[in-house]
Amino acid sequence: MAGRIIVLGEHRDGQLKKTSWEAIGLGRKLSAELGKKVCLALVGSEIDGLAREVSGRSGLEVAVLANHHCRHYTPEGYCEVLVEFARTERPYLLLLGHTYQTMDFAPRLATMLDRGLIPNCVDYRSEAGRLLWVRQVFNGKLNLEVSPQGEPPYLVSLQQGAFPASEENLENSPRVEHRQVGVAEGTLRRKLLEVMEAVQTKVDLSQAEIIVAGGRGLGSKEKFQLILDLAEALGAGVGASRPVTDGGWLPKEHQIGSSGQTVTPRLYIACGISGAIQHLVGMSNSGCIVAINKDPYAPIFQVADYGIVGDVFQVVPKLIEIAREMRP
Ligand SMILES: Cc1cc2nc3c(=O)[nH]c(=O)nc-3n(C[C@H](O)[C@H](O)[C@H](O)COP(=O)(O)OP(=O)(O)OC[C@H]3O[C@@H](n4cnc5c(N)ncnc54)[C@H](O)[C@@H]3O)c2cc1C
Repeated sequence: MAGRIIVLGEHRDGQLKKTSWEAIGLGRKLSAELGKKVCLALVGSEIDGLAREVSGRSGLEVAVLANHHCRHYTPEGYCEVLVEFARTERPYLLLLGHTYQTMDFAPRLATMLDRGLIPNCVDYRSEAGRLLWVRQVFNGKLNLEVSPQGEPPYLVSLQQGAFPASEENLENSPRVEHRQVGVAEGTLRRKLLEVMEAVQTKVDLSQAEIIVAGGRGLGSKEKFQLILDLAEALGAGVGASRPVTDGGWLPKEHQIGSSGQTVTPRLYIACGISGAIQHLVGMSNSGCIVAINKDPYAPIFQVADYGIVGDVFQVVPKLIEIAREMRP
């Protein structure tokens, strides 16, 4: 048992987050490379159905760390449960997605376990039996290699979209282990009163299959309508560079980049966006990147799979026309 790789799964409304599927994908790869077993841990209450589904699909054993105090997320509750689990399990590696939730509790968990946390990793390599983890610093301008020191467990969180998700459905028989873990009275200093949903844009950008993004090249809020029209024709989410949200053409939640969202759609269409590094760090892991820019030397073309050197006001209307014709 000791020395396993544990993927900490994040779930909401009975669904495992995409970043957790990515962590499972990496966990399975590392398991094969390091010869260590991998298992998924889920914290919560009444999550049996989810545990069975994920176990069957991923082929992993799932440890359900059940506690009624953890029905809703609180950093104290999660850490208490995970520390107890880690102390009995003595894993080699704890893998997490880098999300708002893990940013909230993982540093506390690392401190309680007296271990370091290597956050937001985009790659790794093995050297003499050690794993070296790659993180981007200075807004993605430099890569840093970090090797964990001391005894395991090592805590590592993974940047969204940096590793391929485990997608195949193995249709295995579920293997679910229940562990009732205690949360001492008085530990929880927060209580969930109400969940207030953010006003949803048409498509949740973190889950969007296609994103059409526009930049300063669109020229004005009125002209940005062209991007909304293309997105509508493709059933896509709408993204933007920072000048667009700074200028109030779109709300801030549409911003892609180092101070906005990180996205990994299958298709990213960048229109009138130059490709500054702060934008690229938020979208360069997209499956296929199409760039439309009138400047043939725009840096966005360096990450693009397909580039159209042209005026967005000539190219995009044609794309809208084609997309509308192709719509079932
Ligand atoms: C700390 C910090 C954080 C930042 N965070 C972010 C972030 O999260 N996201 C982000 O995007 N930026 C961010 N920035 C800003 C970033 O540095 C760039 O300034 C920004 O990305 C540029 O946006 P843009 O490409 O839309 O505009 P520009 O760089 O002005 O590029 C506009 C492009 O449109 C093209 N163009 C113009 N007219 C047309 C036309 N008619 N047809 C086709 N192409 C045309 C031009 O050739 C040009 O390439 C940040 C900056 C800092 C300092």
